[in-house]
Amino acid sequence: MTTSQQLFEQAKTHIPGGVNSPVRAFKAVGGTPLFIERSEGAYIFDAEGQRYIDYVLSWGPMLVGHNHPQVREAVIRQCEKGLSFGAPTELETQLADRLCEIMPNMDLVRMVNSGTEATMSAIRLARGYTGRDTIVKFEGCYHGHSDSLLVKAGSGALTLGVPSSPGVPTALADHTLTLTYNDAEGLRRAFAEHGEAIACAIVEPVAGNMNCIPPEPGFLEALREVCTASGAVLILDEVMTGFRFGLQGAQGHYGIEADLTTLGKVIGGGMPVGAFGGKREIMEQIAPLGPVYQAGTLSGNPICMAAGLATLDILSKPGFYDPLFARTALLCEDMEAAAKEAGVPFTTNSAGTMFGGFFTGEPRVTNYQQVMACDTAAFNRFFHGMLAQGVYLAPASYEAGFMSAAHTDADIEATVEAARRVFAGLAAG
Ligand code: PMP
Repeated sequence: MTTSQQLFEQAKTHIPGGVNSPVRAFKAVGGTPLFIERSEGAYIFDAEGQRYIDYVLSWGPMLVGHNHPQVREAVIRQCEKGLSFGAPTELETQLADRLCEIMPNMDLVRMVNSGTEATMSAIRLARGYTGRDTIVKFEGCYHGHSDSLLVKAGSGALTLGVPSSPGVPTALADHTLTLTYNDAEGLRRAFAEHGEAIACAIVEPVAGNMNCIPPEPGFLEALREVCTASGAVLILDEVMTGFRFGLQGAQGHYGIEADLTTLGKVIGGGMPVGAFGGKREIMEQIAPLGPVYQAGTLSGNPICMAAGLATLDILSKPGFYDPLFARTALLCEDMEAAAKEAGVPFTTNSAGTMFGGFFTGEPRVTNYQQVMACDTAAFNRFFHGMLAQGVYLAPASYEAGFMSAAHTDADIEATVEAARRVFAGLAAG
């Protein structure tokens, strides 16, 4: 038995399924999750001290690399002053100011503790602001596990084959319209029919919870157009994409104006943080300024704010992003070439510092149906083959991969070499 297997067995005694978030359980790929002891730069180390090149990066946020000394020191310095006060601190103002300076269309921002809280609160705000109940989301996009949003959701829910969870009242699900991502025509039809009842549309500007699916040209533009025409609030959920396409997120990259933006883990450098913010007129409806209630004892926690500010300092250095974009594209190109050499049907998507690999004969994957049609058995074998060679990918074929500033050309080469060997094994049957 490996140490991780022993720890997993122990964990199951008092933790449901041995994990505190379902996708960690390796249910999709089979086997035992690695129990992680520490991390450094591009690497995580399991309980046996085994090193892995990490493309999960705590599900995205470790953009500057794990355990960055500048972030770690900021956290330690703040810890020495106290862990939590439940009262305002100057750090919250500093992070809010930075976010509003950076993000297009963000006049006011409220900190929360997770991406789920950010999206749930943004939706309540949009409903309160418009006085409407219906929300629009897209199949395969995941926005956290709040009731209104756990309707045909992606990520863990998809992996577990639970399109919407027991415990979500049908009455709430009735208020959620789920449309097809990258289908501008379907979107126009839905808004033509239901537009007057729609409070908001929420979308991942680059979908990262059904593998990695960038928006097709015109899709986000059409969404902006129908939201404006119908008076619905457009919420860009940048929990995953925030700071991964440059400082202004995917909305800056694609030039799409959000009414509200949700951010998550990345703004706390991997600490439990989220935020929602946007146009003043809408954000002024939030308590204590307005009547829409939202609160949090631990919101704006000083340790998380310190980690977020230190991370932003690093991201703001000129030239931070260029090598990351180049390495992400290079990894995808070289993986495709390696698969081709071995004769394995495989294609990739790369967007900013996010990427995805698909076991399919199709040249391009642009929607949920195509993702669902990919060869999951091949992915599962690939995943375990890569893991055995020291490369840690997300343990499900519906998840995006992430690049950090700590990944070097040598890491990319080692990853592609490992993939070459695994593809050869797959081709051999
Ligand atoms: N929105 C998106 C786009 C996400 O990817 C996630 C989770 N990865 C969430 C919301 C929910 O965030 P959290 O898990 O921090 O609640």
